[in-house]
Amino acid sequence: IILFDNVFKSFGDFQVLKGISLSIAAGERVVICGPSGSGKSTLIRCINGLESYDAGHIRVAGLALGTDDASRRAVRGKAGMVFQQFNLFPHLTVLENLMLGPMRARGMNRAAAEEIARRYLDRVRIPEQADKYPRQLSGGQQQRVAIARSLCMEPGIMLFDEPTSALDPEMINEVLEVMAELAGTGMTMLCVTHEMGFARRVADRIMFMDHGEIVETAPPERFFSAPESQRCRDFLQKIL
Ligand code: ATP
Ligand code: MG
Repeated sequence: IILFDNVFKSFGDFQVLKGISLSIAAGERVVICGPSGSGKSTLIRCINGLESYDAGHIRVAGLALGTDDASRRAVRGKAGMVFQQFNLFPHLTVLENLMLGPMRARGMNRAAAEEIARRYLDRVRIPEQADKYPRQLSGGQQQRVAIARSLCMEPGIMLFDEPTSALDPEMINEVLEVMAELAGTGMTMLCVTHEMGFARRVADRIMFMDHGEIVETAPPERFFSAPESQRCRDFLQKIL
């Protein structure tokens, strides 16, 4: 459902993706980890067209992703993204934040948009927060709203870029729990995270990136017990 063929990307002189090839099947759950600056965010942002690329080919949900606005827009409808920062509209209630996408991008009427908004607010287990404003919620609750907002677009793929990194420790688990439940629904998921407990429990495969390359890909058991590369061993030693 996601295919990269020899994808390159530079920012000026700095090569951030050095010939990335990967293939992710529908329903697969993949965790990406690696040192800061290794290109994780850039890679994941390429998947939904937030970032352009210089060479190679990307296909997402059967669509060829080019550098033109039309194909980027088309792909964005197939792949939802959740960031470290929640990016909710502060002047809109939770429900209104959730209804915006279905009404604007999917052309739904208010009633249909509200139904879908409430469905996904239930899914992230905070239906009682519908009429509050983002500032009235905890960080963990705000991130769950952000996840629900992406789900309201009913994408086949969900991309997460360090969704728990901005949260206080006691709120990390509630967000990971929602993500694990989502994984249980058969959603195709790609998560950049350093939460290795989550990776071990939920991921089908873990990819380790370093200096713009995917150095190693393995199922969690093998990834943690027998990493093949020295770079990966060094990384695991630092974070575990
Ligand atoms: P982190 O773990 O810190 O989030 P990352 O693996 O997500 O790191 P990227 O954000 O993909 O790394 O960035 C990879 C490299 O590209 C970094 O050295 C960064 O400084 C550089 N970079 C990222 N975005 C830009 C940009 N818009 N312009 C110039 N350089 C950039
Ligand atoms: Mg990043």
